[in-house]
Parts: sequence; C-alpha cells; structure tokens
Amino acid sequence: MRRKRVIGNWKMNGSLAANRALLEELLPQLAVLEGVELAVCPPFSYLAQVAALLEGSGVALGAQNLHTAEKGAFTGEIGAGMLKELGCRYVLVGHSERRSLYRECDETVAEKFAVALRAGLVPVLCVGETQAQRRQGQTEQVVSAQLQAVLRRSGVQGLAAGLIAYEPVWAIGTGETASPEQAQAVHRHIRALLAQHDPVQAEAMPILYGGSVKADNAAALFAQPDIDGGLIGGASLEAAAFAAICQAAAR
Ligand code: PEP
Repeated sequence: MRRKRVIGNWKMNGSLAANRALLEELLPQLAVLEGVELAVCPPFSYLAQVAALLEGSGVALGAQNLHTAEKGAFTGEIGAGMLKELGCRYVLVGHSERRSLYRECDETVAEKFAVALRAGLVPVLCVGETQAQRRQGQTEQVVSAQLQAVLRRSGVQGLAAGLIAYEPVWAIGTGETASPEQAQAVHRHIRALLAQHDPVQAEAMPILYGGSVKADNAAALFAQPDIDGGLIGGASLEAAAFAAICQAAAR
C-alpha cells in the first residue's frame, strides 16, 4: 500500500508576510491529518524562513530547482548541498516551466535528478506532454522518453529513490484538469514501464498527478489506483484549498 503525498509548488510567489500568514492558517489544519506525507516548495529566497515556520509540523520542505554543479561560477544558481543545508527534503526536477522557459532537455533533467540523489535529496521528476503531443497521440512516447533519460542515468533503483509527478503541460495553471481516467491511463503506463525494469520497485513507486488540482477534483483523482497524491501549484497558495486537497489524500 503506497502512502499518499501532496506537495505544494509555490512557484515564484510569496513574501515574508504572506508565507507566514499562509502557514499560520494552513499548518493547524494539516496537523490533524494522518496517512499522508506533505511538503511545500517555496522560492529559494524563502527556504530558510519556511524551514523555521515548518519546524515540528511534520510538513517537509522542498525546493523548485537545483543546478547540476555542486558549486562554482554559476551566477544565480543553487547547488544541491545548499538545499540540503537549508533543510530541504525534496527538490523538483524537470518541471514543465523549466523545460519550456529555460530549455531544460531530458538529459539535463536526468543529470539534476542524479545530482539531487547524490546529495541525499528526494528528487521529484516531473513528466508530461503538451496539448499538441496529446492530440498527435504521442503522450506515452513523450513521457517514456522523459523517464528513460533518468533510467539510463540513475537506473531503476535511482529512479525509485525519488518520486514521479505526471503533469500534462496543458493542465498546468490552465484550470483544465486531466480527467481521472486520462490521468490514470498515463500513471498506469508509467508504472508498467518501470515494471519492465523492476516489478517490485514499480509497485512501490509513488506517482503524483499535477495540473489544476483543486479542492473539488482532488478526491476523484486520488481515488484512481495508480495516482498516489498530487503536485499542486496555484491551489497551494490558498490555505483552505490546499488543506482540502491534503484532506482528500489523507486516510
Ligand atoms: C505545477 O506547477 O506543478 C502545477 C501543477 O500547477 P497548477 O496546480 O497551478 O496547475
């Protein structure tokens, strides 16, 4: 039985005051939930503040990105060891905004995944197809290629030490969610692909869904047999909405 997980991706949002207000409202509502693992991923600039606010809450800290190098002349970048030092447990890799806006290719994403693992972080590998790719029937092919790059670099054991988030690009921040059946079909495909390498690891692998998950559609998505929780963007910035989503994933 896989535990459900819900991870909030705040993207480039927040302020010292807003983060405090959000967490002061949110954390008491999350404290009563059982059987679910929770995390939030604020911008780099707020990791230290949010780490302090999360202390003792059971909610983990994550980052939204990392660089492939440990340190050096990479102005504006952040290394895995720095994230670890700030208390991060998770780091997102290959979010579609990184892939499309910053031209991160499958190989770079796979390298970031490996670097995060080496630093003792849990990388959350985001995969997903664009609307055009779905229309052309390429969803499984695209998602498979994104996964294969990580499998080549880190092997199935490495991949299994992280998490996967299936996030159809057309559903991210658009208000258009994949139906539970559409999402389940891709999650099943991902698990089947992993099973070709290691059936036991495939069965244990947490695969989250992301893309316009809201309080009113979370329960139906999380009820699907291969959907193990959610990666939540916009709704993670509203305490009531995020709490309701976490509640839908809890026992
Ligand atoms: C995301 O950014 O990973 C995401 C799923 O965003 P949203 O929930 O806003 O679609």
